[in-house]
Formats: sequence, C-alpha cells, structure tokens
Amino acid sequence: MRTEIASLGEFGLIDRLTEGIKLENESSKYGVGDDAAVLSYPSEKQVLVTTDLLMEGVHFDLTYVPLKHLGYKSAVVNFSDIYAMNGTPRQITVSLGLSKRFSVEDMDELYSGIRLACQQYNVDIVGGDTTSSLTGLAISITCIGDADKDKVVYRNGAKDTDLICVSGDLGAAYMGLQLLEREKVVLQGDKDVQPDFSGKEYLLERQLKPEARKDIIEKLAAANIVPTSMMDISDGLSSELMHICKQSNAGCRVYEEHIPIDYQTAVMAEEFNMNLTTCALNGGEDYELLFTVSIADHEKISQMEGVRLIGHITKPELGCALITRDGQEFELKAQGWNPLKEDKQ
Ligand SMILES: [Mg+2]
Repeated sequence: MRTEIASLGEFGLIDRLTEGIKLENESSKYGVGDDAAVLSYPSEKQVLVTTDLLMEGVHFDLTYVPLKHLGYKSAVVNFSDIYAMNGTPRQITVSLGLSKRFSVEDMDELYSGIRLACQQYNVDIVGGDTTSSLTGLAISITCIGDADKDKVVYRNGAKDTDLICVSGDLGAAYMGLQLLEREKVVLQGDKDVQPDFSGKEYLLERQLKPEARKDIIEKLAAANIVPTSMMDISDGLSSELMHICKQSNAGCRVYEEHIPIDYQTAVMAEEFNMNLTTCALNGGEDYELLFTVSIADHEKISQMEGVRLIGHITKPELGCALITRDGQEFELKAQGWNPLKEDKQ
C-alpha cells in the first residue's frame, strides 16, 4: 500500500508519526504539539547537545539499508555522542527532508526504527520538522542529554602515562559495508543470484544496526572511574586517537596486537585481501568508545569486561605511533572515514 505524503499534509504526517509518544524523562516537560518543546534540567547537571545530518547517497544507500534500520541507526549515533561525553541522552528532535519518492508507509518504517531506538535507550522524541526535498532523503537528529557537572569528559584531558582503552571490537562495521557494496554489485548483475551473508551476520549487524555503549558508561560509573578523555569511534580509531592527542597536546603509542578485532572481521578482510590492522584503524562507524584513564585506574579498568587496553599516552614530542607485532613503529595517519573526502576508497 502506498499513501502519498501530500494526502496527509505536514501536520497530518507529524501527528501520525508521533502518535502515542509518552515522555519518560523527568527533564521532558512538554514534547510534540506546541511551538517548542519544554525541558527542565536541575542545576547540578550540565546539558549536552549534539546534532547529526545524514544525506541519502552520501551517508546511506537505500538499496540495501532498510528504512527501519536507518531510523534506528540515525538515533543511536546521536546517543553515542552523548555517551562519549560521559552523559545520558534524554531527548531528540527529528527533522526530515523527503522527496516525492517516499510514501507515508516509508515514513512509518523510518520512524518505527527511531522510536525503537528511543525505547531501547529511554530517550524522548520531543519535536522535529518535515519538509520536501528535491534529492532524496535527509535526516537530521538533534539529541539533548545531561551529565553531572564534575563528570563531563572532554577530548582534551589526556595526560602523559594515561592508559588508552577501547570498548568492543573494531573494523566490523566497515567490513559490513564492504560486504553490502559487493553484494549490491552482484545483485545488480544478475537477478537470480542471492546475496550470501551466511557466517557474516555480525558484520551486517555492526553496519546496519549499531548500538551505543551505554553499558560501558554505566560500568565506568559503577567502578568510580571518570576517564581523562573520551570520544566515540565514528571515523576510525586512528583519526579519533589523533583528535584526542591533538586536543590534549599529547602523543600516544598503540600496540597492534592489542587492537580488538572480531573473528568475522578477520575472515572478511582476508577474503577482500585487505590489511586487517588498516581496517581496524581506519574503518568507520564502529560507535565504540575510545577513552583514556589515569594509570591509577589500571587494575580496575583491566578487569572491566568489554574493554581493552591498547596503549598509552606520551609526551607530545613523541608523536602518535602504532607499534606493530614485530616491534616496528609507524606514525599514525588519520585516513578516517570521511564522506567529504574525494579520495575515499
Ligand atoms: Mg563523536
């Protein structure tokens, strides 16, 4: 079934998409339905705000990304940025640019993914906007969250001898994207060929349905650890490490053998004849947390499940380097996953 958006109108569409939303957070005083949402944060909190703009054809490809997954991911990447400040996401606003290609049912799908993510992470949808677009789908989500005043973690606090930690594993979302791109070509070539994803489900999940590491933030709080610096890994470990080092005026040493990589990522890299470490260093969209802790927290952090120590911070004059398995030192380069870069591979 296909219902044209024009038949509902902008307000009709918003009413339909936001129907039945219940506000769960104390700080959400009034949500959708007036000129502005009303939020109220207690004075001992800092308010965090982050925003993200996703454009069809640049950030996502609807030939293999289901709209529900896209909605989920669009919300989760914003939550991830709030967690990366050691905060808790509380509200989002959702703005959409839609071309005529999209129906009301398509928007139901997209929104069901956004609403599922909000349910999962206990975040309220408090507003948004829709408008027509001439060139496909654009999704802009703004997320608002909070953190205790003395617990906000910036990128610029890493100090010499701090330990560098990373959650989860790296490179899988990038390999998932490579896989989807390969199967897209296969599908376009021959209608009878079915894409073969068996044994590679984890890679697809990491690319299509990433999660934000709320659990790690909770574990850090429970262990009474406030990282000295933190960010989420959206552009690749290498590039994010360099951000932390640059903003903290520090250098770093990262050990290849300690970089966490899943088995499926390794198998896929071999199949594609790609260097596994390069994928883990530069593949984007893992949405894991990269953070540094004081060496005094060594014992606590090394016992934390789901967190790996991958290196340490140095004085700035030592630069940023990767130590390979055979003990060679390579300067880290921020290749990154940046869709604005034309030489992207
Ligand atoms: Mg970030």
